[in-house]
This record gives sequence, C-alpha cells and structure tokens, in this order.
Amino acid sequence: MIAPGAWAKELVPGAAAHRVIPRRVVQGWYLAHRPEDFHPDRFGVFERVGDLNAYGFPSLDGATVKVGIKFETHPEIDDLGNVSRTVDPAFALRLADVVRVLPGLRPDPVSPQTGIEGIVADLVIDGASTRDIDFLAPERFEPASAK
Ligand SMILES: Cc1cc2nc3c(=O)[nH]c(=O)nc-3n(C[C@H](O)[C@H](O)[C@H](O)COP(=O)(O)OP(=O)(O)OC[C@H]3O[C@@H](n4cnc5c(N)ncnc54)[C@H](O)[C@@H]3O)c2cc1C
Repeated sequence: MIAPGAWAKELVPGAAAHRVIPRRVVQGWYLAHRPEDFHPDRFGVFERVGDLNAYGFPSLDGATVKVGIKFETHPEIDDLGNVSRTVDPAFALRLADVVRVLPGLRPDPVSPQTGIEGIVADLVIDGASTRDIDFLAPERFEPASAK
C-alpha cells in the first residue's frame, strides 16, 4: 500500500499522474471569547455554503477554532517542494469575511500552535512547556540504571 498524499503525482505511473492535482488549502485559527462554547461536546464540524463558502471545527486545544475557506477551485500547487508560505491578501480578506459571521471568535487569526509546533514554541520562548511532554523526552530511552 502506498499513500503518498499530495506527492502521488510524482509516484503514480503515466496517465494517472495527470489526474493528481495538488491544491492549496487555506485555514486560520481564531481565539474564542468563551472556548467552552466551542468544545467538541457542544460544537460540531460545520460548513457554510452560499454567500460564503467556509468550514470549521470545534476547538481541540480549548482555545482556538480552525476555520477554512472554500474556493470554487482551490489554487493548484505546481511545485510541492516550494509551496508558498505566505498568505495572499485575497485569502486573508476571505477569511475575515467568514469570521465576521461567526459570533464568539476574535477577528484576528492567531498562530495555530495546537501541536508539536506549539510545544517547540513554548520551549524556545519560555524554556518550558505547560503541557505534559514527558513522552517526548530523549531521556526516556535511557536505561533506568542511568537515570
Ligand atoms: C492545512 C490542512 C488542514 C487540514 N485539516 C484537516 C482536518 O482538520 N480534518 C481532516 O480530516 N483533514 C484535514 N486535512 C486533510 C488531511 O490532512 C488529509 O486528507 C490527510 O492528511 C491525507 O492523508 P494521507 O495519508 O492520504 O496523506 P498525507 O497525510 O499527505 O501523507 C502522505 C505521506 O507520504 C509521504 N511521502 C510522499 N512521497 C513520499 C516518498 N516518495 N517517499 C516517502 N514518503 C513519501 C509524505 O511525506 C507524507 O508524510 C487538512 C489538510 C490540510 C493541507
């Protein structure tokens, strides 16, 4: 079984490669005024269609809500090794339109930092993380006698 995701274009043979079109997905993370309102027990995955095409998710980190914008066709990515890391102002404006109709979210996007990148940022900026990261500690591989 080979599951190379967006890189399938480089791996699948011949004609099939032309049918693989990697596209860019643009999302933003927004702080909730009352994170408990967006807890998965109270708030589901949603999609809005019509005037604004967008979708979003409950808060998994207890602070932010992820919102994505849908385009008629998402922008194609020509070179998977050089994906742009900047957000086109048109995308930012579209996200701003969506967030305006989502009550309970602060309008400015924040850095996601919901996973490993958040922990790394904590370690770099604060020298420690408030999250339980013992399961990532390199020392966990040391024999008990060496500790
Ligand atoms: C910004 C963003 C947000 C998303 N948010 C959500 C969400 O909230 N919920 C949700 O359900 N889905 C979400 N998705 C979609 C979800 O991430 C994908 O559908 C899912 O990751 C696809 O899984 P996959 O295993 O098919 O491919 P991938 O997760 O892309 O995995 C493919 C793997 O193959 C590896 N690979 C490729 N070529 C080679 C090679 N030649 N040799 C070795 N390894 C190789 C890659 O490095 C990669 O690790 C999101 C996607 C994006 C881009």
